[in-house]
Amino acid sequence: KKCLKRIKKTHYLNSFITVTEELAMKQAQEAEHRLLRGKPHGPLDGVPFSVKDNFCTENIETTCASHMLKGYCPPFNATVVQKLLDQGAVLVGKTNLDEFAMGSGSTDSVFGPARNPWSYTSSYREQSPEQDPDSDWVITGGSSGGSAAAVASLSSFMALGSDTGGSTRNPGSLCGVVALKPTYGLLSRHGLIPLVNSMDVPGIITRSVQDAATVLGVLQGRDEKDSTTVQFPNLATSLPEDFDIRDICVGIPKEYHAPGLSAETLTQWGRVASMFERAGAKVREVSLPHTQHSIVCYHVLCCAEVASNMARFDGLEYGHRSAVESSTEALYATTRHEGFNHVVRTRILSGNYFLLKQNYDRYFVKAQQIRRLIAEDFRRVFQSGVDVLLTPTTLSDAARYSDFIQEDNRTRSAQEDIFTQPVNMAGTRHPHRSEIPTYSTVQNLETAHIYFTSCQRWKNLNT
Ligand code: GLN
Repeated sequence: KKCLKRIKKTHYLNSFITVTEELAMKQAQEAEHRLLRGKPHGPLDGVPFSVKDNFCTENIETTCASHMLKGYCPPFNATVVQKLLDQGAVLVGKTNLDEFAMGSGSTDSVFGPARNPWSYTSSYREQSPEQDPDSDWVITGGSSGGSAAAVASLSSFMALGSDTGGSTRNPGSLCGVVALKPTYGLLSRHGLIPLVNSMDVPGIITRSVQDAATVLGVLQGRDEKDSTTVQFPNLATSLPEDFDIRDICVGIPKEYHAPGLSAETLTQWGRVASMFERAGAKVREVSLPHTQHSIVCYHVLCCAEVASNMARFDGLEYGHRSAVESSTEALYATTRHEGFNHVVRTRILSGNYFLLKQNYDRYFVKAQQIRRLIAEDFRRVFQSGVDVLLTPTTLSDAARYSDFIQEDNRTRSAQEDIFTQPVNMAGTRHPHRSEIPTYSTVQNLETAHIYFTSCQRWKNLNT
C-alpha cells in the first residue's frame, strides 16, 4: 500500500507507464497470508517490484514506450518476471523507458520523459511540477530510467531493467541506486523484447548490494526457452563472511580517461580508488587498448541487429496497424512510419545499409572483428590477476533535461556509453572468479557509499 501511495504521490516523475494496483493488492494479500502462516515462498515473498515496459507481462500492456506496441497485452510472462512472481514478489507496475530501449536518457518515450527524483531535493532546488509546471529537471539516465526512478523514489524495492550498452547501469548511477548488469547468459532473455540479442541482458536495480545479490540468486539459471543461458556452478549470491579486501586487485583502465570526462567525476573516481588502496587492496593501472573503437563498433552491430529485430513489427501481429490498407506494402510502410520514432527508424535504415551485400564486409564483419579484440582486452586484463575494474559509469553527472535534448548534445550522448558498453560487446566473465558476475556497477560516490555501508562484513573497509 505504501508503494502504491508513493507511486501516486510522485506521479510527476513519470516513472510508470502502467500501475497494476488491483493485481498488486491481490498478490500482497496472498503473500500476507503466507507470511502470517509462517510459510513464505522465500526471501522475496511480498516484496513490491516494478518491471521495465519492454518485458512481457501476461495480460498486462507491454508497450516498449512506443506507439507501435500501445495496447499490446502479451499472453505470457518473461521468464525473469515469472520467477519473481513465483517467489511471491508483488508487481506494482511497468516502468518508463526510451522507445524500444534505444537511448540513454529516458527522454524518448511516447509517454513523455521520466524525471530524476533527485531533481526535487534541496541541492538542485527545482520547484516540484505542482509548484511550477514549467520548471526544469535532471534526467534519470536511461534507457531503464523509470525503473531506477521507481527504486530511488521508494515506489518499489527492486526493479527490472534491461542492459544492452549501459541502460541499467547508467540510470542506476544517475539516480543513486545499485544497478547490476549480470553476465550475458546468466539470466534468461525470454520475454525481453530484443534490442540487440547478442548483447541484451536483464538488469537488476535495488537499494543495496545484498538485495541485488538476492534477486540475482532468484533469477539466474538455465532456461530452456533461451538457448543462450547457461548454468553457472557455484554462483555466490550472498556477501561472503570472510571477505578480505587485501586479496583484491582493482584495475583502473587508462583508456577510460576519455574525452568529456568531467573534472568532478574524475575526482570521485580517484577518491574511490584511494578508499580501496587505504583499505589494503592493490590498485593498478591496466590497459584496454581497443576501447576507442567501441562506440562506433557498437553502433554498427546494434543497428544491424535492430534492422533484423524490428522486422516483426509489421502491423499484422502486434499493436499498431495503420488505416492505410491499399496494399500490403503500403500497410507495412505506413504502420512502421507511424509506429516508430525517428531514433528507431534511423537505426533500422542504418542497419539495413550496413547489411547490404556490398557493405557487409566493410561494416558488419569488420565490427565483429573489432568486437573480438575488445573481448580479448578484458580477458587479458582479468588473466593478469585483476579481480575487478573500477570505472565511472557516465562521463558526468545527470544533465538537465533542457540541455540533454539539444540536438548537438544528443549526438554527443552516444559517447556517454563509453564506460558501460564495451563489456556488453565483450560478453565476458572473469575467468578465475566464476562467482563474480562481470561488471556489477556501483560506481558513483553516493552509490559506492551505499555499497560500503551495506557491506559491513567488509571489515577492512573503514569508511
Ligand atoms: N544507449 C545505448 C543505445 O541507445 C544502449 C541502450 C541500452 O543499453 N538499452 O543503444
